[in-house]
Amino acid sequence: MLNRRRFLQFSSLLSLPTVGCSPNMDNYSTDVAIIGSGPAGLSLASRLTQAGVNVIVIESGPYDGYSERAQQRNKVLDAGQGLPYPLGTATKRMTGGTSSVWGGHCPRFRQDDFICKSRFGYGADWPISYEEMEKYYCQAEHYLNVFNGLNSCNPITMSDDSFILAQFLETQGFKDTVAASVTVNAGGVYQPLRLKQSRLPGLVNNQNFMLLNNLTARNVEIDRTGKVKSIFCTDNEGLDKTVKCKALVIGAGAIQSSRFLMLINEQHPGLGLGEGGGYLGANFMDHNAVQLTVKVDGNSNKVDQQNFQPSQPEKFGQAQIWQWYGHYREQGIGAYMPLAIYENTSTNRSMVPGNIMNDNNSEKTITFSILCEQEPLHENRFELSKTEQDEFGDPLPMLWFELSDFDKRTYRHAADSISNVLAMSNALEISQQPELFLGRHHLMGTTRMADNEEDGVVDTDLKVFGSKNIYVLGGSVFPSGGAANPTLTIVALGMRLSEHIIQNLV
Ligand SMILES: Cc1cc2nc3c(=O)[nH]c(=O)nc-3n(C[C@H](O)[C@H](O)[C@H](O)COP(=O)(O)OP(=O)(O)OC[C@H]3O[C@@H](n4cnc5c(N)ncnc54)[C@H](O)[C@@H]3O)c2cc1C
Repeated sequence: MLNRRRFLQFSSLLSLPTVGCSPNMDNYSTDVAIIGSGPAGLSLASRLTQAGVNVIVIESGPYDGYSERAQQRNKVLDAGQGLPYPLGTATKRMTGGTSSVWGGHCPRFRQDDFICKSRFGYGADWPISYEEMEKYYCQAEHYLNVFNGLNSCNPITMSDDSFILAQFLETQGFKDTVAASVTVNAGGVYQPLRLKQSRLPGLVNNQNFMLLNNLTARNVEIDRTGKVKSIFCTDNEGLDKTVKCKALVIGAGAIQSSRFLMLINEQHPGLGLGEGGGYLGANFMDHNAVQLTVKVDGNSNKVDQQNFQPSQPEKFGQAQIWQWYGHYREQGIGAYMPLAIYENTSTNRSMVPGNIMNDNNSEKTITFSILCEQEPLHENRFELSKTEQDEFGDPLPMLWFELSDFDKRTYRHAADSISNVLAMSNALEISQQPELFLGRHHLMGTTRMADNEEDGVVDTDLKVFGSKNIYVLGGSVFPSGGAANPTLTIVALGMRLSEHIIQNLV
């Protein structure tokens, strides 16, 4: 296979499956090439094409459905300490990327998440502030359809009755409970947002947009100043293609984005893109989860039932999110954030919270799944394997990973707190010991953002240090990962990046 790792030749006349362009093209040219059609790639493409910028999105997965062959390209090797879970499954190689399977929960990061080093002494501060991100959060909430009202710049907030729960928790010692909640609102019914269905159709109609499927980006043509001229790709038939561009954005998910930069550096010795501080591939983070199920006593008329019953189920959908921050961080642990899922056990059907209490004939459960912050550590890192390659002969990524004492303290605290508070409720019966899940498919770190190249891989414009026109967009640029699901923040960064690219494209 290694003989496939040559500089690619571009002579085939066979066509690729494409959307938004005429077929039978072989080599392509565009203003901005984006690797990956997930939330990062599609949201950025949407902004840029609206501004008249030509965009080609290169997507390794198929246009329709799922392909096991494409998925195998995500394989991650264990460097010897054990993988937290089969990480290759955490990203989907398909159109729409991992938004094809995600849960669609879109909370903002909180102000503290951007300054946990200076405020609480662990992790890393972001080189940009929450205040700077606020307007982009607003744009991202519109893009992901989780905004509160037509023109407001507020995330969806808790319903009044859910706020009662927050107040109840405060009486039980959760002094800094914060009701910063956002959940999915897709047409009144819980419906994870599939960007292929919700956002791609609008893009396809834009003449500035082109999507190339079943095409895997593998390397670049780059000059000595760090300016990319084109991207080298291979299609499913093994045919090589090239995409000429003025700027390249890598939006391939945290593992594959850092791997792509490593592949460039390997093919172009001496370039050392983003390698100045030794952070390329390092500081990999996810969110661990503590899960606990409680049974609801349908006959009880205790205050707790009201507390768990939002008044506007049609607006809030299936789940609600609470963030419990601050107080615990000062105790030397990370943030954590519980998500409650209500289920009718007899039909094994998730229900909107407002309905479950009215359904007296069935057994009901509430599952609390608590996302826990993981500290960014240099030791949790990827490198390229020297022995194993993917189907194209490119080295696979290999992970060193271990939970720190800080991570363990955080999830134990989360498990104890939620068990204690639920034990105080007469209407709830704890039916399961808290379980720990390592990782919740929230891939972050590996190309972190920093003010200077000694401290990270990309600058505050998300441009790779040492390059003229390569950007990374995704959870990989997060210097620390908070406890909030990452995608809203990824899309907000995409909105911000679109402004920079539009102003600087030459
Ligand atoms: C089960 C599950 C539930 C989740 N729930 C939530 C949630 O509720 N809320 C939340 O915020 N997040 C959630 N996530 C995480 C969320 O899906 C990701 O944060 C998000 O999809 C990241 O977007 P992205 O565009 O950066 O990457 P992705 O969506 O992973 O897209 C990357 C794309 O790049 C393509 N690609 C990779 N390498 C190449 C290459 N070399 N050439 C061409 N294309 C390439 C891939 O095929 C893929 O389409 C969940 C994830 C999973 C798995």
